[in-house]
Amino acid sequence: MHEMALTESIVDIVSDEARKQGFAKVRIVRLQIGAMAHVEPEALRFCFDAVSRGTVAEGATLDIRRLPGEGWCLDCGKTVPLEERFGACPECGRRHVQMTSGDELRVEELEVD
Ligand SMILES: [Zn+2]
Repeated sequence: MHEMALTESIVDIVSDEARKQGFAKVRIVRLQIGAMAHVEPEALRFCFDAVSRGTVAEGATLDIRRLPGEGWCLDCGKTVPLEERFGACPECGRRHVQMTSGDELRVEELEVD
């Protein structure tokens, strides 16, 4: 499962930070997930519970923030909101929009004890 691999990298990042910063327990993992990242937050939470077992992230809460998609319309020459990858421009209706954000998945912040 796609979410499983993502969760493993999230737990890796958290464990690395724990080693570097010397904390032993993470309470909250804040994540940013783009609207078009094809990540199911519920599946991510489910995987996280399993993958984090026995690590510093065990029992931590996932705080997931969805980021809206954004693109650059070549016809309008401006930044427009984008609902889907290769979606149409909301201003002119054409499909010459290059996605500039919306597929990110990153650990934004950790709340630790
Ligand atoms: Zn346009």
